[in-house]
Amino acid sequence: MEESDAMSSPPVARAEIVVDLAAVRHNVRTLRELVGDARMMTVVKADGYGHGMVEVARAARAAGADWLGVATIDEALALRAAGDTGPVLCWLGVPGEDYAAAITADVDVTAYSLAELAEVAAGAETAGRPARLQLKIDTGLSRGGALPADWPELVAAARAGEEAGRWRVTGIWSHLAASDEPAHPANDAQEQVFREALAEAEAAGLRPEVRHLANSAAAILRPSSRFDLVRCGLASYGLDPAPGHTPDLGLVPAMTARARLTMVKPVPAGAGVSYGHTWVADHDTTLGLVPVGYGDGVPRAAGNEAEAWVGGRRRPLRGRVCMDQLVVELDPPGDAAAGDEVVLFGDGCDGAPTAQDWAEACATISYEIVTRIGGRMVRRHIDGGAPA
Ligand SMILES: *Cc1c(COP(=O)(O)O)cnc(C)c1O
Repeated sequence: MEESDAMSSPPVARAEIVVDLAAVRHNVRTLRELVGDARMMTVVKADGYGHGMVEVARAARAAGADWLGVATIDEALALRAAGDTGPVLCWLGVPGEDYAAAITADVDVTAYSLAELAEVAAGAETAGRPARLQLKIDTGLSRGGALPADWPELVAAARAGEEAGRWRVTGIWSHLAASDEPAHPANDAQEQVFREALAEAEAAGLRPEVRHLANSAAAILRPSSRFDLVRCGLASYGLDPAPGHTPDLGLVPAMTARARLTMVKPVPAGAGVSYGHTWVADHDTTLGLVPVGYGDGVPRAAGNEAEAWVGGRRRPLRGRVCMDQLVVELDPPGDAAAGDEVVLFGDGCDGAPTAQDWAEACATISYEIVTRIGGRMVRRHIDGGAPA
């Protein structure tokens, strides 16, 4: 992406999250081209992985996303309330869920069990129209979905409900356990179980519009898993779903998390920094105070591990991350001064850390870094540099 006016000026707020929707569109287009004939679902659950669900959803649709995917019915209804009218799938209901609202809003719901089928049937009755229903088979993740042993019964009941006009079965799907490890034997095993489940559904008379298994990593790394539709979350945001395995696709991280230095001050050798003095200066040096902490979703694990970008260099975090602030060492300080920009992570093109760098520093995955950052930070959207 081009260096933009909106990003080259200092942050507007104390601390902000800037999301470039042009990057999202670029990533969605890139992934669509990669997967060829398969349709594209952009997964926007958890507030668009912290990027803003509604804004990301609009950008994804503009870039050709055929479907949007969310976890909860509430998320799906929020997309409808924001004006989205295209196919939306949700997949995580709890007993007593308001299926009628989802059905009325023309949202595809997912059933894992006969109990959920009964709830969807009641919802369709209340809504006064047939549901769009997808079925999930647990092919080996051992999370949601019907076990293979329970699948024939679920499929038969789903077919009976279809014939009774309660719903139309629009999709059959599953989810992989180890798609970020392409050589993991679970990938072949799960795909095999999925193919068998599809055959059983077909034999029972179901004719779904979409059969789908792949998330971002599988969509990129495992063409055989693409079926009719791929469900891309992380890669749509420009992050690498399988570090060490993903070819360079030119995806662009859409999120930049940044703040302004509160103060810059010299400290003498021997100064202990932040709670518990887990870092002690071994020479006279300079510290910069950054006004974000775990109350803003900055992982506490980043203390003494991650780096931030100040004055054209990567600067180490020193000492523990506090609730509202953290400390970086500015050595040499250059002309760093209070008010200057601090990039925690961004697209990495100028050398600043990325969410992946932070994930490695914090022994987690970039999903968690971008999804949890926020708190009191102000989020704004830009479009290739201009305000969105
Ligand atoms: C979150 C999620 C996805 C997206 O996964 P990514 O690895 O972010 O692409 C796809 N499918 C399901 C069922 C999910 O829960």
